[in-house]
Amino acid sequence: MRALLKTARGPGNLELRDVPAPHITRDGVLIRVRACGICGSDLKIQDDRHPYTPPVVIGHEFAGEIAEIGAAVTEWAVGDRVVSEQHTLACGHCRQCLSGNAFACASKRAPGYFVDGAFAEFIQVPAWLLHRIPENLTFVEAAFTEPSAVAAHGMLERTGIAPEDIVLVLGCGPIGLVAAKMAQAAGASTVIITGVDHDEKARLPKARELGIDCVVNTSQADLAALVADLTGSEGADVVVELSGAVTAIAQAFRLARRLGRVSIIGQPPTDEVSIPYREALFRALRVSFSYSSKYTSWERVLSLFARGAIRPTQFVTHTLPLAEWESGFGLSRSGEAVKVVLEP
Ligand SMILES: [Zn+2]
Ligand SMILES: [Zn+2]
Repeated sequence: MRALLKTARGPGNLELRDVPAPHITRDGVLIRVRACGICGSDLKIQDDRHPYTPPVVIGHEFAGEIAEIGAAVTEWAVGDRVVSEQHTLACGHCRQCLSGNAFACASKRAPGYFVDGAFAEFIQVPAWLLHRIPENLTFVEAAFTEPSAVAAHGMLERTGIAPEDIVLVLGCGPIGLVAAKMAQAAGASTVIITGVDHDEKARLPKARELGIDCVVNTSQADLAALVADLTGSEGADVVVELSGAVTAIAQAFRLARRLGRVSIIGQPPTDEVSIPYREALFRALRVSFSYSSKYTSWERVLSLFARGAIRPTQFVTHTLPLAEWESGFGLSRSGEAVKVVLEP
């Protein structure tokens, strides 16, 4: 089968190749991939700035239909339309797995990084990770479930949005944009989202089109003054950090109100990041770090999509065949796209 393979360590080394189709295990299913979104982490793997184990087929934001089921699988059938959580090789018996947090299992190996992913005709996954795609969603729409589940997990489940909260989302990539819409769906009174000049090509205009209450280009406007204006100088109830930029991370702690909440989801390029520690301490901020997602996050997102509270088509700006992966990666990198989805 054709697959986009990271062949070796180092920048580049990404090629569309013929590789053997995966074998399924007794409790696994083989999925014919119909759509797979390009993620910022795919670009980082291309640049050798994200952990992975080569050679590996990349791609993890996928949707497809079941082509074959393992001997022990009883609850799924060939032809079922599915999306899948990312906890391949999770052990099933550690504290994290048993408490519904398999995303944090030490033996988990996410597809597209450490085991073969979904920029390919087929992927194999354990059946217990599957979720059914609601009938009114296309495969391309369903491929937006994974990044949305990351936002739902970090912002809705770990940090929490209360009715009438003022929510500041730092960063307007696909996850930032969907987090902002999700905050509105969760009852926030005002949602502010930020970007920089580079985001004026597609992402900030998209935020305006989506009806986010306040869209700020921080290269042009003074965000701190604006937040002070909107909150009577108190600060935001919730700040969601989704830019991964070290300056924005420090700002996340400064722009939250006393006893406010900070949701850290964006991934900075370095391990050490400086934050205004005493300021955060003496304003008694509640901070939650988050990565990946869990069963409840996926069900929540599929429900938001199915009833139209969030419309994934609004985030997918480009759909291309897998063979045109290079132009897809280029569109994502240049900022001309919000979400690019490849169809194998
Ligand atoms: Zn992703
Ligand atoms: Zn485990």
